[in-house]
Amino acid sequence: MDLDLTPQQVRATQAARAFAETHLAPGVARRDDEALFDKALFEAAGGRGLAGLPLSEEWGGGGAGFVAAALAVEEIGRVDPSNADTLSAHTALVAVPLWRFGDHGQRERWLRDLAGGRSLGAFCLTEEGAGSDVLAVATTARRDGDDYVLDGRKIYATNAGPDAADLYLVIARTADETARSRALSAFLIERDTPGLSFGPPERKMGLRGAANCDVVLRDCRVPASGRLGEEGQGFAIAMKTLDGGRIGIAALAVGLAQGALELATHWAVERRQFGRPLSDFQATKFKLADMLSRIEAARLLTLRAAWLQDAGRPFGAQAAMAKLAASETAMWTTSQTVQILGGRGYTRRSPAERMMRDAKICEIFEGTSEIQRIVIAAHHLGT
Ligand SMILES: Cc1cc2nc3c(=O)[nH]c(=O)nc-3n(C[C@H](O)[C@H](O)[C@H](O)COP(=O)(O)OP(=O)(O)OC[C@H]3O[C@@H](n4cnc5c(N)ncnc54)[C@H](O)[C@@H]3O)c2cc1C
Repeated sequence: MDLDLTPQQVRATQAARAFAETHLAPGVARRDDEALFDKALFEAAGGRGLAGLPLSEEWGGGGAGFVAAALAVEEIGRVDPSNADTLSAHTALVAVPLWRFGDHGQRERWLRDLAGGRSLGAFCLTEEGAGSDVLAVATTARRDGDDYVLDGRKIYATNAGPDAADLYLVIARTADETARSRALSAFLIERDTPGLSFGPPERKMGLRGAANCDVVLRDCRVPASGRLGEEGQGFAIAMKTLDGGRIGIAALAVGLAQGALELATHWAVERRQFGRPLSDFQATKFKLADMLSRIEAARLLTLRAAWLQDAGRPFGAQAAMAKLAASETAMWTTSQTVQILGGRGYTRRSPAERMMRDAKICEIFEGTSEIQRIVIAAHHLGT
């Protein structure tokens, strides 16, 4: 990366690369094989300042901004996309909205531990009937005196589980559908709250080293002081949060594609057929050239969106473009990497097949590629 980075951005990049290569690379295949989420790795990343990079130092963050956070997630995604996902969901989907929308008491209570990686966050929006259609959320939060009582079931939540997240940001319905985008509210719920429980671990195609499961809310009583923002602000909080989260997924996807490119390049140079290295064949060179160009384009879109976020300027359309381009680049690049590795790429003799499985989800979560196109077109047309 030959952009002019600030010393903080350089430090974040270097810290993430060192952490990824020393602590994540050795076990990445085993964690994928065994579908093993290891919370100690998240805590170790937090101990190196990687869990709260964009948050202000006042609240235990790195004060390094969103470009630094994207660079760090890219470095981790290059080696271990599951842990990049854990970190990105934690920071962008829980710590940042708490920092942004939380009141002083909420920040005092939770933010420093989140920023330092001593506490892990999970964001719970999706339900069986509410995926792309966020306003279809059916989980209810009924006001009862000084409390809210929540009932419903969230699905797929990243970082959720009895051995995983400590704090849950839950979007629930506080008014009927006539309130439209004012019908939802956001709540912060600690893991040990009575009425909060978990489904079994989700069995996934990829990102098998990340934790995902259903979050069940049954008569779950939350004090009104646990409501994030005003009643009726939940949809706006969720949408703004996802704008930032998409930059994290874009960075993860760029890193994943970069890791695949490096693997493909190494193999193309080493592997010989017809008396020559594969890299001598124009068919291979063109694949590598296209990978390089697409990755660079996705990286620049990602950093531009993060830069706009750092500047306090609107960045929703750019975040959607970055996520769309980066996730499609990751899917295409990992598929081409499998092709360059031939039979080896299809088997677990190489990490290429894991990378391809890991890449697919980038086109789905935090808004599918179709939803990103809808967002981009809406910004363009002003609809
Ligand atoms: C591993 C994993 C981790 C996840 N982590 C979280 C998390 O931490 N928190 C959380 O809340 N959720 C999480 N999710 C949920 C994820 O964000 C949703 O799966 C995603 O938003 C899509 O919703 P859906 O699965 O219900 O698909 P649907 O909305 O049912 O979409 C199915 C298909 O229809 C298309 N489609 C839908 N509507 C339209 C339209 N208007 N126009 C064109 N095409 C359309 C979609 O693009 C898609 O191709 C996770 C999911 C997975 C698998």
